[in-house]
Amino acid sequence: MSMRGEQPNPVSPRLRAERPDLAPYAARESTSRGRVHDEPGSRFRGAFQRDRDRIVHSAAFRRLEYKTQVFVNHEGDMFRTRLTHSIEVAQIARTLARVLGLNEDLVESIALAHDLGHTPFGHAGQEALDACMREHGGFEHNLQSLRIVDVLEERYPRFPGLNLTFETREGILKHCDVRLAPTLGDLGRRFLEGTQPSLEAQLTNLADEIAYNSHDVDDGLRSGLLTIDDLMEVELFREPFQAARSEWPELPERRLIHEVVRRMIDLQATDLVEATARNLESAHPATLDTVRASTEPLVRPTEAGRARQGELKRFLRQRLYRHHRVHRMTSKAARVIRELFQAFVGDPRLLPDEARSRVRALEARDGASGRARAVADYIAGMTDRYAIAEHARVFDPVALS
Ligand code: MG
Repeated sequence: MSMRGEQPNPVSPRLRAERPDLAPYAARESTSRGRVHDEPGSRFRGAFQRDRDRIVHSAAFRRLEYKTQVFVNHEGDMFRTRLTHSIEVAQIARTLARVLGLNEDLVESIALAHDLGHTPFGHAGQEALDACMREHGGFEHNLQSLRIVDVLEERYPRFPGLNLTFETREGILKHCDVRLAPTLGDLGRRFLEGTQPSLEAQLTNLADEIAYNSHDVDDGLRSGLLTIDDLMEVELFREPFQAARSEWPELPERRLIHEVVRRMIDLQATDLVEATARNLESAHPATLDTVRASTEPLVRPTEAGRARQGELKRFLRQRLYRHHRVHRMTSKAARVIRELFQAFVGDPRLLPDEARSRVRALEARDGASGRARAVADYIAGMTDRYAIAEHARVFDPVALS
């Protein structure tokens, strides 16, 4: 678990090692807890850059393009998918990291990996798969993201997974059930001790919220499920909307909405940066280890900022995520997941060769739970459209197999 093998950049070895541009409490490659499997470094790239690159080249990353954020992928080409969401999170997180003197490469790799473990059909898919897996340890998308980068990606001759650094893996594991934490070694410890991950991990987590709070308003309006009138009851929308409209009274509505969404991101990001800069100034953690030992997150918005976001989240939950048209789609989606799971667990011969051999291997090791886990891995890896097509191939007597 050391970084001894990661060689200094031959062009600027001193700058690479010391990173004078980073704050003392930032994550550094020189103090990284390293990779599970030691490997030689890259001549030109740092360890966190390599993590990002491994994520970008993974199969799971490409599949994010066809996975639901809120709207199922085939409902329209204009809506966010998990892929564009992840890129927006990386954009916001990188900007904030640079302002705060944190490690941009690390926040980028965490952001691009944070949603890899999502099932098809968003939260409805996750809930359905979790219910299917109840007897076998459940299903949780955060843990699945980690499982993908640690185990499921098969891209290297010497080890399973992507062999990412501890710091990227720490950032991917946002939440973890305390009952499962003891099985995760060093990575699970903070959930038992109530301590914190790196500032980069804390920051990326909140950049995720800023991204979806803002883009779900945009997609909600575009879909017609939300109206500007509805949103006027929410302060985080109303204030930037009124300001933008008085500045640009003639602007067509679509352009006005873009301006409002831009201001919503800016308001939340500014609040987060300013509050965090104050927290860091008063706590002045000496190193990343001090950050990790703290029991409270240091990256956090103001109380007022948190309350504004809470109001918007409640609004989106009631008016968008639980809208009957979203619910009709998600209830169909949940049925697709449930029926595929039951069919495959009941008869693994229905599975394609590769998935079937994984079922055999995990079943030999862990019995019925192993069989269920391998089926869950297969289903979780599907895109929305693949799950729909696979459902037809398994259940529709007329569909071609
Ligand atoms: Mg996300």
